[in-house]
Amino acid sequence: MKFYSTNGVAPLVEFKDAILTGLPPDNGLYMPQKFGTLDKSIFAIKDFPTMAFEAAKVLLDGAIPDADLRKIIDKCYNFDVPVVNVHDNVNVLELYHGPTCAFKDFGARFMANTMSYFLRSGNRKVNILVATSGDTGSAVANGFYNVDNINVVILYPSGKVSNLQEKQLTTLGGNITAFEIDGTFDDCQKIVKTAFLDAQLSGEFNLSSANSINIGRLYPQSFYYIWAYNRLAGTSGSEVVFCTPSGNFGNLTAGLIAKRMGLPVKKFIAATNVNDVVPEYLFTGTYTPRPSQRTLSNAMDVGAPSNFMRMTDMYKTVDAMRADIVGYKVTDDETRATIHDVYERCDYMLDPHGAVGYNAVMKYISDTGEADPIIMLETAHPAKFGEIITDTLGIAPTIPPQLQACLQKDKVSVKCSKDYDEFKGKVREYLIR
Ligand SMILES: *Cc1c(COP(=O)(O)O)cnc(C)c1O
Repeated sequence: MKFYSTNGVAPLVEFKDAILTGLPPDNGLYMPQKFGTLDKSIFAIKDFPTMAFEAAKVLLDGAIPDADLRKIIDKCYNFDVPVVNVHDNVNVLELYHGPTCAFKDFGARFMANTMSYFLRSGNRKVNILVATSGDTGSAVANGFYNVDNINVVILYPSGKVSNLQEKQLTTLGGNITAFEIDGTFDDCQKIVKTAFLDAQLSGEFNLSSANSINIGRLYPQSFYYIWAYNRLAGTSGSEVVFCTPSGNFGNLTAGLIAKRMGLPVKKFIAATNVNDVVPEYLFTGTYTPRPSQRTLSNAMDVGAPSNFMRMTDMYKTVDAMRADIVGYKVTDDETRATIHDVYERCDYMLDPHGAVGYNAVMKYISDTGEADPIIMLETAHPAKFGEIITDTLGIAPTIPPQLQACLQKDKVSVKCSKDYDEFKGKVREYLIR
């Protein structure tokens, strides 16, 4: 089974090359020629790693031998993935029990361990360059921490990430280096893009990306859709609705993949903050990417979602997409009101991203009268957004032990201006060959 580029120009590649290079040379995104079909027995498996292993076997179609794949899965998923009923038919899939307390741990850990598997001979070493505005960087850094033959350089905008996020990025050490850029997130991203296009640098070092455009991050995110379905519907075959708070739409696309594999999903709710290009597209049929606006759910402040290309590749027309996905936009005022309301009424604490999802669920229920089970994906622990929660509820969320631990460590970063040549001069000593 091979991977093609959504732009249709680049040659077909194996899974190994799709994951190690990240992006096809024609600027499209890699997609598999087929997704495979789940055996119904998977819906009876009550243990996450075993279930994930069965799903991964179907997706990878032999690209990694079973015994090795099982080892990778066991290394990645050693934390809880609970489904919690909030009220009536509304449930939350808590994806924040991993090492960095955000759902990105699922994708980052799988990608890291899979890359490491393909590089196990040690003949080839890879440097991951990643720009982050917060969450991605810490999940990636953590996923790759102490992984052989891989080195990570993270770029983050100085003074523009929260204290907790900064600690998560700068306290690992080892094969992880944090560059603190005197500039914005866009400046960081520009440096990374320039580095990838720099023939001299990429001639000297193997460089790779690790954002949600890598198919190796997307695939494992389909596992927890199957898992949540298991918990609620088992082998009944009945349909459920998923709601995914979205920015670059990698998480939602992973759900679409699970559906293609045979997961009985009635509808996907695409929940966004005011950066609503996809809900707008579903509503009007016109796609208008634009600069992002800052919101409380800042990991979803995306004006040109990178995975939209994959969605159109899967559906071809807006009508086909509408049959599976409905979009809702949620404002910051609604986000705050939802955090407050759900805490008061249901004694359940949502983070701002989950609050966007929950609010979209309420709008969907009010539009459709939906009575089937609905599963909202809670993408981050509320403690990661402690200030907003404290501001809204007047109480501070409990900080989970894994976040507490990194708060106590000392920050180590390499300070650098946003000038590419300065970065290039400094980064060399942190790259491996
Ligand atoms: C990254 C992120 C999202 C958005 O996920 P996409 O796959 O980019 O749509 C939502 N919530 C949190 C907390 C995130 O970190």
